[in-house]
Amino acid sequence: MSRFWSQVVRDLTPYVPGEQPKIANLIKLNTNEHPCPPSPKALAAIRAELGDDGARLRLYPDPNADLLKAAIAKRYAVAPQQVFVGNGSDEVLAHIFMALLKHEQPILFPDISYSFYPVYCGLYGIDHRRVPLADDFSIDPEDYCRTPNGGIVIANPNAPTGYPLPLPAIERIAAANPASVVVIDEAYIDFGGESAIPLTARHDNLLVVHTLSKSRSLAGLRVGYAIGHPDLIEALERVKNSFNSYPLDRLAIVAAVAAIEDEEYFAQACRQVIASREQLIARLSQLGFAVLPSAANFIFARHPRHDAAALAAALRQRRILVRHFKQPRIEQFLRISIGSEADCQALTDALRDILGA
Ligand SMILES: *Cc1c(COP(=O)(O)O)cnc(C)c1O
Repeated sequence: MSRFWSQVVRDLTPYVPGEQPKIANLIKLNTNEHPCPPSPKALAAIRAELGDDGARLRLYPDPNADLLKAAIAKRYAVAPQQVFVGNGSDEVLAHIFMALLKHEQPILFPDISYSFYPVYCGLYGIDHRRVPLADDFSIDPEDYCRTPNGGIVIANPNAPTGYPLPLPAIERIAAANPASVVVIDEAYIDFGGESAIPLTARHDNLLVVHTLSKSRSLAGLRVGYAIGHPDLIEALERVKNSFNSYPLDRLAIVAAVAAIEDEEYFAQACRQVIASREQLIARLSQLGFAVLPSAANFIFARHPRHDAAALAAALRQRRILVRHFKQPRIEQFLRISIGSEADCQALTDALRDILGA
């Protein structure tokens, strides 16, 4: 605290990301990064953009990242005017909160969800109401169809539960809230969920957010995007162009285009994670864990006889990082990212050792 801080800054409760350790040889299963490297075509695109002398870096990038919007539009069979791109989907979400969710009525999101949503509400002074998930951690769409609201935000699959919401439920929510923007954060959709992007053709209030951080192995590049009606996209462009004209650098734009176009590599990398996930669920179940159904690149698991915080600490001693949330309803769960085959094996071995099984 300092006398120079504005009242806004004093009142902020910033998001705390999962640890990015500086020490080597840790098995990182705490921030849902992809175990595979990104598409080799993305790396080749970065090298080509750099050239021999990097002279192109003298020049600003395309402020509109038109090549990337075109690649995304083609991949999802929408028009480029339906695509917004930003510096990671966190930035895209931030612009969405400011441009489309700040209204008289409180916005709605689940009580257990991505913990950045309430942070944006704090930053922009947006009133919000948390809608409790059912006891089995599923979302009942009817809970979002009764209350007047200033907007709705749902992660699908949900984070940190991994629970998928079927498309008819999303369509029901969009149709029941014609006066509100319904944001579907599909950070993990490529690991088994069903994308709501096709629904944006029928619902002008539906906005779908994606990231290249998870399923395209590019968390370090910082690229995210939103797809929806051109009027929604225009609102985001207005905020973006009042904030930072060049959120995506030259290397990010070319690498993201190449990654989006490399469908074959992408599909194979997703399949690998899904197969590892199912195997890990089976192994942890054998060790007595209760694991929620997951359509994401992580699982959410608890052990009926072992405290989750103690398990996380014991794993850390064995140089394995997982995520534990000190939060009502989920404090006995661990969120575990799907790592490589070797990572999953090391995790299972460590847990077997810790549990004395
Ligand atoms: C990881 C994640 C994001 C942020 O992704 P970036 O594109 O890396 O900023 C957004 N929403 C959810 C639910 C996430 O898990």
